[in-house]
Amino acid sequence: MISNFSKYCRQFEEQCRNYLGVNYALSQSNATSGLLIATRALGLTGEVITTSFTFSATIHALSWNNLTPVFVDIDPETFNLDPKGIEEKITPRTTAIMATHIFGNPCDVEELECIAKKYGLRLIFDAAHAFGSQYQGKRIGGFGDVEIFSFSPTKLLVTGEGGLMTFNNLTLLNSLKIGRDYGNPGNYDCQYVGFNSKMQEFCAIVGLQLLPTIDEQIRNRNRIRELYIGHLSTLRGITFQKIKEGNLSSLKDFSIIINPSLFGMDRDTLVACLTAENIHTRNYFYPPIHQMTAYANFRLLYEGKLPHTERIAKNIICLPMHSYMSEDTIIKIYRAIARIQEYAVEIIAKRGV
Ligand SMILES: *Cc1c(COP(=O)(O)O)cnc(C)c1O
Repeated sequence: MISNFSKYCRQFEEQCRNYLGVNYALSQSNATSGLLIATRALGLTGEVITTSFTFSATIHALSWNNLTPVFVDIDPETFNLDPKGIEEKITPRTTAIMATHIFGNPCDVEELECIAKKYGLRLIFDAAHAFGSQYQGKRIGGFGDVEIFSFSPTKLLVTGEGGLMTFNNLTLLNSLKIGRDYGNPGNYDCQYVGFNSKMQEFCAIVGLQLLPTIDEQIRNRNRIRELYIGHLSTLRGITFQKIKEGNLSSLKDFSIIINPSLFGMDRDTLVACLTAENIHTRNYFYPPIHQMTAYANFRLLYEGKLPHTERIAKNIICLPMHSYMSEDTIIKIYRAIARIQEYAVEIIAKRGV
């Protein structure tokens, strides 16, 4: 058996359930299909409050289900959906909140759960980045109605392609479970329009190998973050994503925010200079969803209305980060950035910007 939830998929699910401390863990072919299925299985309609500062798949899952995303600005310190902006956006058509733990930094889970409860909304977490993250000492995975993890190539736990849906509520088990198997409960009388989102045994085997390394990887990444911040905070015009007291981020990515006037040049010029130094970075998440071609219909609607999202998306750089990076490498990257800043005026004159 190389698919259809055989031995290794079941083992992987069980070990994830134990690690995350949740009642149910359903493996998926990837997180995008997991998000699609969760959204469909929960029977959402109308509008879903969410963030424009996320990976495309969060919003694609809503769009594939004919739901309208309603964007609320992010907290400028944590980069996560800001609970303070939500209530004023709730209408009679709102049925859910979908939030992303950005780069593994846990959302304001309690505030979001409180709002969802008050207005009778479903709460889904895109936990693609957050495997191993902790909110106030508790692992991400059991919050809201359902959380969805990704095991695709840029994440910490990589199974090739893969995902995981986790939750605690028994009443959701049947509909979420059959969703990844075409909506088929076993007798081919499909209960709703499901999907094929089955994890393959090969992927589960890889996941089983890597799962025991996750805590060490996260410890290392948090140490790497401290080293980066220690060096980079000596430079003008750089700030960092805030991880709130008591929370642990998986640090899927380590980001910096450039203040162009203080730093001496804009993000894109710095990225070009770093690339010339053979230091490869990512502009996650730029463009934000409402500025993407695929979502051009939202561009006018939201232009200027999500100031923190737009400023952070425009000025963010994710620096090189892997779980076994040496201090030497970090210092090299810091020195390159310091040197680029030192020569900012000359570089800009030469580039003709
Ligand atoms: C990677 C990612 C996804 C999609 O995960 P896949 O497993 O590649 O489908 C969804 N949301 C976020 C925030 C992601 O970073």
